[in-house]
Amino acid sequence: MTGTPTRCGFCGRQTITRKGRCPACGQAKAPPRDTPLEPPPPPSLWRDVRGQVASVGAAVLLIATALLIGSQVLLYLGILALCAMGVLYAVAHSD
Ligand SMILES: [Zn+2]
Repeated sequence: MTGTPTRCGFCGRQTITRKGRCPACGQAKAPPRDTPLEPPPPPSLWRDVRGQVASVGAAVLLIATALLIGSQVLLYLGILALCAMGVLYAVAHSD
């Protein structure tokens, strides 16, 4: 049985994986993939996005709670929080 040649992450050659290893350099290969060394997205960006999503989620939750219990003060607070986040986002991404 012959497999499909995949790029080895260690020697960079296109080789057919044998018993999970690269026959050219002998290193264990990851399961066949076209691009084994794809870099993950920058972690700081992801932290940013996740933090923002969490903040917006909290504000939306606040507004939803305000609407549920009919509290105008909470509603204003939630809208203010959303506006503040929008301003902060605009400032952070202005240049
Ligand atoms: Zn190799």
